[in-house]
Amino acid sequence: MKKAVLLCACSFACPSMKDLNFAELAERVRLELPHDFMLLHPRLCEANGEELLADLIKNDGVVYITAACKPEKQYKLFRDGFQKAGVEMTDKNFRPVWIQFKNTDQAFEEIKKALEELEK
Ligand code: SF4
Repeated sequence: MKKAVLLCACSFACPSMKDLNFAELAERVRLELPHDFMLLHPRLCEANGEELLADLIKNDGVVYITAACKPEKQYKLFRDGFQKAGVEMTDKNFRPVWIQFKNTDQAFEEIKKALEELEK
């Protein structure tokens, strides 16, 4: 499986992400963590984020590690994108990671942990 890391910055304005430096986080993920591709989007749950997800998800053999709000919320927010792609959301293709209320180091560690879990 290819590993895609999707970072959602919640408009770069959410108080719950005030301690996160997304530029630094993206560069650290790029340089330090094993993955196939990464993108940083300002608001994945809005219409154009959903369109992007729907198009991406059509690709077989990719697991999406989405670093964003609470996993419970992500399951709801991204469900439409999976439905539009005609792909069932499972833990084989979708691994939500919670990065709210974390600083850059903590968010990095959460993403790292999610990538490591894929190896088990
Ligand atoms: S998916 Fe979550 S983190 Fe991303 S913009 Fe929507 S509410 Fe914010």
